[in-house]
Amino acid sequence: MADCIFCRIIKGTIPCEKLYEDDRVISFLDINPASPGHTLVLPKAHFATLFDIPEEELKVCATAVQKIARAVLSATKAPGLNLLQNNFPAAGQLVHHLHFHLIPRFHDDNLRLLPGKNHPGTGHDKILARIRAELQATG
Ligand code: 5GP
Ligand code: ZN
Repeated sequence: MADCIFCRIIKGTIPCEKLYEDDRVISFLDINPASPGHTLVLPKAHFATLFDIPEEELKVCATAVQKIARAVLSATKAPGLNLLQNNFPAAGQLVHHLHFHLIPRFHDDNLRLLPGKNHPGTGHDKILARIRAELQATG
C-alpha cells in the first residue's frame, strides 16, 4: 500500500535498522523503543490487523516471532520479554500494517504496557459466556 509506512520500509524507500528478512517476513528495530532492543516483526504482505491475515501467513509470522524473540532475549540478556500486538486505534494501533512488538523487559524497568486494572461489575460472567458461545459457533 502506497501510503503505508511499513510497506515503504519493506520496499526500501524508507530506511530501517533491519534485523531479519525472508520472502514473507521482515523484522527491524522500533524507531521509538519502549526498551533497548524493542523489535517489530511483520508480514511483508499488507494486512491491517490480526483479523485480516490468512491463517497460513499468520503461522509463518508466529514462527519468525519465536525465532527473532530468542535472538532478542539472548542479545539483550533481558530476563523477560513481552509480545504485544495492537489492533485498531482503540487498542493503540498507530501503524495499520499488522505487526508484532517484541519488548525486552528488565526488573524494575517501570514499563506499563497494560492497565492491569480490575473492572468489577462490568459483566465478567456475561462476557465469559458470550466468548465461549462465539468459539463454539466458529468451531
Ligand atoms: P502500534 O502502536 O501501531 O502497535 O506501533 C507502531 C510502532 O511502529 C510504534 O512503536 C512506532 O515507534 C513504530 N514506528 C512508527 N514508524 C516507524 C518507522 O518509520 N520506523 C520504525 N522502525 N518504527 C516505526
Ligand atoms: Zn503496509
